[in-house]
Amino acid sequence: MLHSIGVIGLGVMGRNIALNMASRQEDVAVYNYTRDLTDDLMAHNEGLPVHPYYEVADFVQSLARPRKIFVMVTAGSAIDSVIESLIPHLETGDIIMDGGNSHFHDTERRFDQLQQHGIEYIGVGVSGGEVGARTGPAIMPGGTKEAYEQVAPILTKIAAQVNGDPCCVYIGPKGAGHFVKMVHNGIEYADMQLIAEAYSFLRVRLGLDVEEIADVFASWNEGELKSYLIEITADILRKKDDETGLPLIDVILDQAGQKGTGKWTSMQSIDNGIASSIITEALFARYLSAVKEERVAAATVLGGPEARETLDKDVWIERIRQALYMGKIAAYAQGFTQYRTSSELYDWNLRLEEIALIFRGGCIIRADFLNVISEAFAKDESLANLMLAPYFADKVQDYQTALRQVVAESSLSGLAAPCLSTSLTYYDSYRTANSNANILQAQRDYFGAHTYARTDREGTFHTEWQ
Ligand code: NDP
Repeated sequence: MLHSIGVIGLGVMGRNIALNMASRQEDVAVYNYTRDLTDDLMAHNEGLPVHPYYEVADFVQSLARPRKIFVMVTAGSAIDSVIESLIPHLETGDIIMDGGNSHFHDTERRFDQLQQHGIEYIGVGVSGGEVGARTGPAIMPGGTKEAYEQVAPILTKIAAQVNGDPCCVYIGPKGAGHFVKMVHNGIEYADMQLIAEAYSFLRVRLGLDVEEIADVFASWNEGELKSYLIEITADILRKKDDETGLPLIDVILDQAGQKGTGKWTSMQSIDNGIASSIITEALFARYLSAVKEERVAAATVLGGPEARETLDKDVWIERIRQALYMGKIAAYAQGFTQYRTSSELYDWNLRLEEIALIFRGGCIIRADFLNVISEAFAKDESLANLMLAPYFADKVQDYQTALRQVVAESSLSGLAAPCLSTSLTYYDSYRTANSNANILQAQRDYFGAHTYARTDREGTFHTEWQ
């Protein structure tokens, strides 16, 4: 019997995706270019219908047509070499899905390359990590609608389900799926950094101990901040180190790693002229965290402000909660603005209402808050900025004082709060009807004759300034 789908790449994600498919009545062929991972999966296949192949040709021939192949290998040249190895064995109409974190420009190039061979290519954004891959990730497929229709029964089945709806919808042509996944990761960077800054304020400025902070996060997870990231932060803070008995967080080195998708989001927003300052600050915060030795040395040379008075814990815990929520609104506003603007630029017709819904399950940024985002775009699909939706406009109006207080107090205390303060700057910049960019235009015209527009009539103007 021919298998209904094949999976190539049996690392952390691939093996779990294969098992997920097999546990939902798919008959799955698997292949990895080195043998060990295949053997290891077969030793732990949970009795599911997973069938190993050790040659690409045999693997491809084992699949029902049109062949559906889900590739889950390291992003970059590995996916190109997998594609090259598949092309001689595939036929017109067969479908390759790339579930890795490929850059959407690479996906567009591969799509065009495979179109020439009559092979369909779907760039599939997958979010959810190891557990999500096994139990149900959020899935963001981009390619032709026709190809998606053929794989939709499988993808929607293996995706996370929220209220009976799969966290998988067709995103758009070519690289659109991988683009949406990329910006999702950028939003994730900002969300994580905002939480880290709230933690710092609670710990450093309010002097709460780790267990107390865990309780604060757990209580926040009962309200409008309810989300996977808040929930796991409470869990993380309760975990003790087996060796020392200390909170594990206190023995984890403060140097953040990254795999590049947050950076791509920032670079793309810069290329496309879109302000994604909060996401980019989150990236820079990771870069600054990485220079640990320099920071340790600088701490002995560069002084901060005098110690300040003790703060009322209950009052400030609520202020931090509000500041965090408002920072989160601003960060998501930037991410969704990047979706809207890029959708117009690339003619993708992204449906922001649906994108918010698929993030509700399986993925790292899943949160109740996404329902409200989806409703905002459902009511007004051309909404220029999330903060302008009535619900969020009211919320930021209510919470801005708390954000200002937390940012000001952080600053006066010498506590870095890059994403919280950038959220406030973004909010204040965005709501400024008359900005100071007239000074910039005048300077540009003064030194470079770059011309300027006037407020009172159409046209392009230049002044002889001297
Ligand atoms: P792993 O490192 O666990 O697995 C990588 C897989 O790629 C292995 O099967 C590896 O085989 C294979 N591979 C590497 N190089 C080649 C090559 N040149 N030719 C063929 N196969 C190759 O990574 P993950 O499973 O974590 O990630 C896979 C993809 O999924 C990546 O693009 C990643 O960014 C993305 N992703 C990961 C998530 C996560 O939480 N881990 C979440 C969402 C997406 P071998 O070991 O034999 O070399």
